[in-house]
Amino acid sequence: MENKKIMVTRSSMPDFEEYVEMIKSLWETHWLTNMGNYHKQLEAKLTEYLGVPYLSLMVNGHMALELAIQAMGFPEGGEVITTPFTFISTTHAIIRNKLVPVFCDIKVSDYTIDEECIEGLITEKTVAILPVHVYGHICSVKKIQQIADKYNIKVIYDAAHAFGESVDGVGVGNYGDASIFSFHATKIYNTIEGGAVAFREESLYKKLYNLKNFGIRSEVLVSDIGANAKMNEFSAAMGLCNLRYVEQNVIARKALVEYYIQKLSGLPGIRLCLYNDEEITYSYGYFPVLFQADIFDQSVRDKVYERLREHNIYSRRYFYPITADAACFKNKYKEIPLENARNVSDRILVLPLYPELEYETVDKIVCLIQKSLEEIK
Ligand SMILES: *Cc1c(COP(=O)(O)O)cnc(C)c1O
Repeated sequence: MENKKIMVTRSSMPDFEEYVEMIKSLWETHWLTNMGNYHKQLEAKLTEYLGVPYLSLMVNGHMALELAIQAMGFPEGGEVITTPFTFISTTHAIIRNKLVPVFCDIKVSDYTIDEECIEGLITEKTVAILPVHVYGHICSVKKIQQIADKYNIKVIYDAAHAFGESVDGVGVGNYGDASIFSFHATKIYNTIEGGAVAFREESLYKKLYNLKNFGIRSEVLVSDIGANAKMNEFSAAMGLCNLRYVEQNVIARKALVEYYIQKLSGLPGIRLCLYNDEEITYSYGYFPVLFQADIFDQSVRDKVYERLREHNIYSRRYFYPITADAACFKNKYKEIPLENARNVSDRILVLPLYPELEYETVDKIVCLIQKSLEEIK
């Protein structure tokens, strides 16, 4: 036990035989990619599972986001209001589309973009809002839509953390003009690498199909500057297998989250995500803990992180630093006070969570956190 590495997550896989059975037919067809049979099947299944009008499968979540933005056809230099408390992919996707990120602060209550701060950042150049459903907390989708409607701008959600979630029974991919999902190996549902764009407008389907295949419209016509973002058949087959187990995995995750909460809630100075908004059906992708500023100084997070590492438990500092402070574009964009985002980023730690995580390991993690905090006091 002491020597076994406990990572923050563990990729879900079907039984070996189940997957082999699935990929057998590929040795008959020799059709390995380019929107094959499994690609079609998975696209249809996920459209239904996520309860969205349309969905386009992609090679990964990042390309889903890049191409979703590209498909909107924004003018170069347009400003996109976004959160800096996210995975670097969100910000990269904006900049790689020749657009300008305008960072908006977050709420300390659930770490999503602070909708009250969005309007103050809108200028003549604003083309879109790009919020993130951080740790599966759903942004204030209704308020954000009102703002977008008022200024006639688009909303694209990074829903990489919110696979399978819904608000009042409505799949989270129905909000905004588009939402992207990631099926990376580390996410709650994986296709090894993979992703998708969900959207409302039918015309986007053709556009995204085109963009993920080099912009090739026909053998002789290349109509757009596209990319290669097609999901291959081995990934789609993995996705079809893994989809069978998502629901039971979410149930296991929920039980573990409840156990963590029960064990940790007595500790002073720790803020937990309780996942208790009754309107939301959660997928329990992450279990972050925040070490509060009024009790602990900033070093506590890293001390706990190190302590866990010494015992072969690898928690993660998601998201640290905030993307606005990434070395590649620090000081390049508008300086906006991002007090909440910086504070949270300095004090948050995501603990291991995956369906097969053992309860004894949770006990051990909690015990190590307790010990570290006692030493610090
Ligand atoms: C994982 C992730 C992405 C990128 O998805 P990939 O499938 O890894 O390309 C984008 N945004 C967020 C918030 C993520 O967590």
